[in-house]
Amino acid sequence: SAMRDDRIEKTKTVCTYCGVGCSFDIWTKDRKILKVEPSVDAPANGISTCVKGKFGWDFVNSESRITKPLIREGDAFREASWDEALNLVASKMKEHKQNSGADSMAFISSSKCTNEESYVMQKLARGVIGTNNVDNCSRYCQTPATMGLFRTVGHGGDSGSITDIAQAGLVLIVGSNTSESHPVLATRVKRAHKLHGQRLLVSDIRKHEMAERADLFFQPKPGSDLVWLSAVTKYIVDQGWADETFLNNRVNGLQEYVDSLEKFTLDYASEATGLSKETLIQIAEEVHNAKTTSVLWAMGVTQHSGGSDTSTAISNLLLITGNYGKPGAGSYPLRGHNNVQGASDFGSMPDRFPGYEKVADDEVRAKYEKAWNTTIPAETGLNNHEMIDAIHDGNLKMMYLKGEDMGIVDSNINYVHEAFEKLDFFVVQDIFLSKTAEFADVVLPASPSLEKDGTFTNTERRIQRLYQALEPLGDSRPDWEIIQDLASRLGADWNYTHPSEIMEEAASLSPLYAGVTYERLEGYKSLQWPVAADGTDSPLLFLEDFPFPDGKARLFPVDWTMPLQFDEEYDIHVNNGRLLEHFHEGNMTYKSEGISSKTPNVFLEVSEELAKDRGLEDGTLVRLTSPYGVVKVECLVTDRVKGKEVYLPMNDNGEGAINYLTSSQADKDTDTPAYKEISAKMDVLKPK
Ligand code: SF4
Repeated sequence: SAMRDDRIEKTKTVCTYCGVGCSFDIWTKDRKILKVEPSVDAPANGISTCVKGKFGWDFVNSESRITKPLIREGDAFREASWDEALNLVASKMKEHKQNSGADSMAFISSSKCTNEESYVMQKLARGVIGTNNVDNCSRYCQTPATMGLFRTVGHGGDSGSITDIAQAGLVLIVGSNTSESHPVLATRVKRAHKLHGQRLLVSDIRKHEMAERADLFFQPKPGSDLVWLSAVTKYIVDQGWADETFLNNRVNGLQEYVDSLEKFTLDYASEATGLSKETLIQIAEEVHNAKTTSVLWAMGVTQHSGGSDTSTAISNLLLITGNYGKPGAGSYPLRGHNNVQGASDFGSMPDRFPGYEKVADDEVRAKYEKAWNTTIPAETGLNNHEMIDAIHDGNLKMMYLKGEDMGIVDSNINYVHEAFEKLDFFVVQDIFLSKTAEFADVVLPASPSLEKDGTFTNTERRIQRLYQALEPLGDSRPDWEIIQDLASRLGADWNYTHPSEIMEEAASLSPLYAGVTYERLEGYKSLQWPVAADGTDSPLLFLEDFPFPDGKARLFPVDWTMPLQFDEEYDIHVNNGRLLEHFHEGNMTYKSEGISSKTPNVFLEVSEELAKDRGLEDGTLVRLTSPYGVVKVECLVTDRVKGKEVYLPMNDNGEGAINYLTSSQADKDTDTPAYKEISAKMDVLKPK
């Protein structure tokens, strides 16, 4: 494409923020972004976008972009050539492999990068270095949802399409601040609710915008979702409201599962959740009376020590009521980042190849060994949570991380920072000098989405094409090119000239993408996986079969123990999440003038009761102390939270960063940090 200085260019791209996957045309002149223009052809959003997709792009021209490779010299960095930087990284990798073995190294992929870049990252780890120590940040958010769905229905993505949600008779939102975290998807629910009589139930500990619209909003005690979900399911079974035909024909394990529900009586659930029996019955009746039910859930469910089990309980409820395999029904774990779905889909996981085929499976491994002309270890690698422990234990010595501010977004970051300091050699590839990059030995300047070709996969498993709109800034380069260049220096012979060739290879190896080609993804065309060899895709999963050997889904019994512990000293529950204006830790949105001038600072939401009790007003500076660290932040008194619960948005790169408070406790099945399980004490530092 002609990136001529004097011409206005219109390029189709996909939003780089959330997992809704809005696509639109972006108008540019030289490096200036003139406007973002949505298209009726955009499959996920049509003519809608939110504030981030529309105005959040000027970070690409930020003064803070890294435009040259950097090499550490003492306490500072000096600029270097690509040759010098990559030769240094390659020689360190060789040295570590020789002296300490391939498993002394680890690789972190990015949910901001393309599918093709996730693919080459795991190929570098497995095929060139010889380790399965590769992971991505879905470990910090949605891996428990994937686990719950793997256990019950076999595919770890949304079971239908975003447009299907509008057809649901009932939408049940659990632990998702949908209107701020997935704005355009929320708009579809709002419209269906307002205009088409869709019922809307919201469960959350915080009264956010969707809660205010709901037909029924209920606030269970923190960490108790599994209990009301199971009690509602039990009540449905006891009333004889289960979908017998669906269960007989399509589901295994009914009796064992029903037996496991025994303890979840209305009395037990009411006690554990704080919800009245009437509320529990009302929820059950709503699900029973609805023609179809879709459940939307996010971090409020997954970021708990029982996150996988609660996700499983959601899927169990859907199975019992026959809510799979028809439009308007099903499971919608709402993926956070634009390509967090694709980062896992394309194999940046310690136990899975692209398309979720298991590393432990000899046949699958043999297929990749043959294609890549290498040997790959059978053992599961370290996930990113285990990597930090392994560094502390002295077993992991070198790390190569791209596009992930692990030093802000992982939990218990004081512990993470100590680990980074212990690494022999740390390579960070990013567009900005992130908090994490401050610990690096080499920093490699990468290009954001507007400066490269590739594909992203959104929350509804939809693969969409993005086209290069700008030349890479300075000496920065697309991540896939950097990785290939590094692989060559380690003896590999890849020779990809365009991301389409990487996709071609992935499609030839992984049955999930058998029919994915760039021709079939041209412009606004898209494909939802699984994609058969003839190009037939899957907007709605489980129409006939579940992907298990006998084609049947599986009810999966789960149990519950109270996760949160409070005592007299640490008596405040610190909830946390996203704000509309900022994305995640704010690495990109803080560098967007339009956004950060509107919402410059983080604040702590406190309830009116707590404000009265402790003498807090808007602007009062408080210190929160957990057993792991300290944050200082100003208060905002609001009726969104109640009692001793406070809410701290996660966007901050200074003293308010939530992860100074979080622990290393994690979901027992996936190691996803239990970000939502924080107890802290509060001191007033400076009254307003
Ligand atoms: Fe981007 Fe998500 Fe907003 Fe769409 S809803 S414009 S994908 S941030």
